[in-house]
Amino acid sequence: MIGSKSVVEKKQKYTVFTIEECPVCGQKTKREFQTGDYITKDGAKCTKCGNQTRISLIYAETTKPPK
Ligand SMILES: [Zn+2]
Repeated sequence: MIGSKSVVEKKQKYTVFTIEECPVCGQKTKREFQTGDYITKDGAKCTKCGNQTRISLIYAETTKPPK
């Protein structure tokens, strides 16, 4: 199987999200991607323990337009 070719349909919209992860307690925070984000970049302060979080994941979700 060849699955490496990515097909992007013009009608589908993608929303990109950034996951910030706290290295101390493992708390993960999901927020919308902002320009300049990259993996390992410092994120916001952890809401749980107050330590510096880091961006651990950036991914896109498809959003289906309402009919
Ligand atoms: Zn934490």
